[in-house]
Amino acid sequence: MTEFDVLVIGSGPGGYVCAIRAAQLGMKVACAEKRATLGGTCLNIGCIPSKALLQSSENFHAAQHQFADHGIGVGELKLDLARMMARKGEVVGANTKGVEFLFKKNKITWLKGEARLLGSGRVVVGDTEYTAKNIIIASGSESTPLRGVEVDEKRIVTSTGGLELSEVPKHLVVIGGGVIGLEIGSVWRRLGAEVTVIEFLDRIVPSLDAEVAKAFERVLVKQGMKFKLGSKVTKAAVSNDGVTLTVEPAKGGAAEQLQADVVLLAIGRRAYSAGLGLAEAGVALDDRGRIAVDKHFATNIPGIWAIGDVIAGPMLAHKAEDEGVAVAEIIAGQAGHVNYEAIPSVIYTWPEVASVGRSEEELKADGIAYSVGKFPFTANGRARAMGDTDGFVKILADKTTDRLLGAHILGPDAGGLIAELATAIEFGASAEDVARICHAHPTLSEAVKEAALAADGRAIHI
Ligand SMILES: Cc1cc2nc3c(=O)[nH]c(=O)nc-3n(C[C@H](O)[C@H](O)[C@H](O)COP(=O)(O)OP(=O)(O)OC[C@H]3O[C@@H](n4cnc5c(N)ncnc54)[C@H](O)[C@@H]3O)c2cc1C
Repeated sequence: MTEFDVLVIGSGPGGYVCAIRAAQLGMKVACAEKRATLGGTCLNIGCIPSKALLQSSENFHAAQHQFADHGIGVGELKLDLARMMARKGEVVGANTKGVEFLFKKNKITWLKGEARLLGSGRVVVGDTEYTAKNIIIASGSESTPLRGVEVDEKRIVTSTGGLELSEVPKHLVVIGGGVIGLEIGSVWRRLGAEVTVIEFLDRIVPSLDAEVAKAFERVLVKQGMKFKLGSKVTKAAVSNDGVTLTVEPAKGGAAEQLQADVVLLAIGRRAYSAGLGLAEAGVALDDRGRIAVDKHFATNIPGIWAIGDVIAGPMLAHKAEDEGVAVAEIIAGQAGHVNYEAIPSVIYTWPEVASVGRSEEELKADGIAYSVGKFPFTANGRARAMGDTDGFVKILADKTTDRLLGAHILGPDAGGLIAELATAIEFGASAEDVARICHAHPTLSEAVKEAALAADGRAIHI
């Protein structure tokens, strides 16, 4: 079988979800993947393995530092890192096999190997040429390199190597105070590493609301993480003893040296399109090397579309998935659409950080008058029962209409709690709408309701 209605290149959350949706809509679908397993970055080396290790290290940390407070003694605690890594592998395997099952269920042909475009409607995988009415590029992203810092995935690692270390480093230096660096840094910190984060800007996670980012930084410092903000790494020299980093103030000044056992390079990710034959096929890129698409995910070549990390927008699995669904529906003649105003974003440290919609800084920049409602987890009964009172819920609503514009949560299960506020933004709700919804007691979600009440100055429990 070499003729398809839809041929998707890449089986990450963008690609595999697109393939399934297109099959549901009655199209004959193939998906090319050059990795040995399906699921892309997300399932193999990203979201899923990182969450497996975050969960394991959270359990370890809780047993070490929190169980005693609950009256639970565990004797001498032992870390079996090999087992922890094996469990992570099992979790990844269950997920990638799950996609394989879904492909069979939906009669999607898995083309094993690297796919290259031969022009509109034509793709080669291995030695075989395929034709497809529609080609969807979902080739994802890769770790951004840094000049002077040569990755070997042993001493100097990207997130891939950072999730595979065979022993806990004494000193892990993370270059980049973004989501991936802080999540993986948290894993190793909880397992006993000293962790120093070097960040070019004078704040962590630049995409976050500044007040939330500052509070988040304070929580991480309390957990023992060290930060060198406003600093840049200019060189990394590997020796038998580890890595010597040369660090300079971002604004210029005297350099200093920092010794690390392992360095995690996590300055961001960039679109990945090597080997696709884009130039030969005439597919245009934008100014940042991403595939340029219009509002309907169409490239400049008819019949070639692109979605996920390889195009503009937040590099998030659920953003890629929603684009996958939307483009399949557009191809089927339906009105596929993604609302970029309501894409939640979560940092899976503990406490978690989650946000949706606008930050205070963005509203100020756009000259939009807003009201703020905040509620701390110290005043939430469930958070007290859990012993997880760090953080707060912050709600931003239009000053005139009360329409919900943004929501930011630092706290326990922030990633779960943000779903309600993403729904509210999607439905155009006001802060008062959220405040009038009955929230179960005692739950963390009551802090969301109280923050919504606080936007009108009438929180009850504070
Ligand atoms: C450590 C880490 C943790 C993360 N955690 C989260 C998280 O918690 N939540 C979240 O939302 N996002 C997270 N992300 C981001 C998330 O993984 C990406 O946003 C998501 O995977 C993008 O999906 P995609 O389908 O665009 O591409 P990818 O998942 O990158 O998949 C692209 C696939 O295309 C294949 N491919 C590329 N070129 C070709 C070719 N020519 N032929 C055949 N196959 C090809 C690749 O092998 C790859 O498997 C994380 C990322 C990392 C690195």
